[in-house]
Amino acid sequence: MPFIGALVLAGSVSAQPPGSGAAGDIPIRPGEQCPPGTTEIRPRICRAPQTPAPSILDYRPHSTLVTPEHLRPRAKFPAIDYHGHPMDRINSAEGLAGLKAALDSLNVRVMIAADNLSGDRLQRALAAIKASPMKDRVRILTGIDFRNVGPGWAETAIKQLDADIAAGAVGVGEIPKSLGLSIKKPDGSRLRIDDPALDPIWDECARLGIPVFIHTADPEEFFKPIDLTNERWLELSLFPGRRYPQDQFPSFEELMKERDNLFRRHPKTTFVAAHMGWKANDLGALGKLLTDFPNVYTEVGAVLYDIGRQPRAARDFFIQYQDRIMFGKDSFQPEEYPYYWRVFETRDEYFDYYRHYHAFWKLYGIDLPDSVLKKVYYENAQRITRGIPHA
Ligand SMILES: [Zn+2]
Repeated sequence: MPFIGALVLAGSVSAQPPGSGAAGDIPIRPGEQCPPGTTEIRPRICRAPQTPAPSILDYRPHSTLVTPEHLRPRAKFPAIDYHGHPMDRINSAEGLAGLKAALDSLNVRVMIAADNLSGDRLQRALAAIKASPMKDRVRILTGIDFRNVGPGWAETAIKQLDADIAAGAVGVGEIPKSLGLSIKKPDGSRLRIDDPALDPIWDECARLGIPVFIHTADPEEFFKPIDLTNERWLELSLFPGRRYPQDQFPSFEELMKERDNLFRRHPKTTFVAAHMGWKANDLGALGKLLTDFPNVYTEVGAVLYDIGRQPRAARDFFIQYQDRIMFGKDSFQPEEYPYYWRVFETRDEYFDYYRHYHAFWKLYGIDLPDSVLKKVYYENAQRITRGIPHA
């Protein structure tokens, strides 16, 4: 086809036929990768940059794209943050006043404290909240002590849970990722998420009608070798503690399997899978999970980078599962919430995420309808959690 050949030549930067480019260009075979330090400049021709390449830390290109911007400093509707970590702020009048100012400015109406407060610590926090202007603005989840799971453990755990709920906790959580990853039984073996010894506590949650907010595993990339194909290379290098070497930890798949067994075995218990169950990068799989287990809800904390990089699929997903998704932020950084509002509420395109090391890509708005926004922001949380103010 000489005509197409002529077009290719006319369109290329130099008139040289492929393969006879600049000195040092490296040909590769079909399916082969370019060698390190080079990139594919034409089909199967690799070239090294003529100036030293910057590191991924220093390369910060400024986008030339000009598109409408709709910053959203405040949520369009009052939001419930289902994944709050207010820590010490809820123990004192000053802390609560600071929390109030931050939440007011963001239009977060209620924060659910998912810091596993139990016993005396729970009662102290509840008393401080009750005595403050935040009495209708903070609710607390209690924790379960997974140490020493064995004979007699369940009775003690249930007694504490009943007392904490009677004191005013509205659910359980956040069950930490250490359940599954690292907590051991007295015999030294790993406590599996679906260990039958834990069954009585999940059944008690069903009896009490309280939700269980559970964080299982971490992003799948954290379980993989840290090499130059790993999407989270920078994060794993900045925070080596986030790596789960496979000779020391169970696999991602194993943890997902155990978690799903838990959901399956306790259909009367309401579970909220934190961080979209670490399946926001595979919405088909997450949809299957929500379809298979009607007792499971999910929450969006810390996975905005996955929602905002697939705006069409994410929008479809949020509409299809609008009754099963809740807003939550995780780590309490007030300046980061507006990124969530912007992704959920606008059609903005190609804008920065708040943590570069999470995501080497830009975000897009998914433009949710108001009826869906209201469910995600507050209605779903209110429906599954007794004791959240409705005003
Ligand atoms: Zn959390």
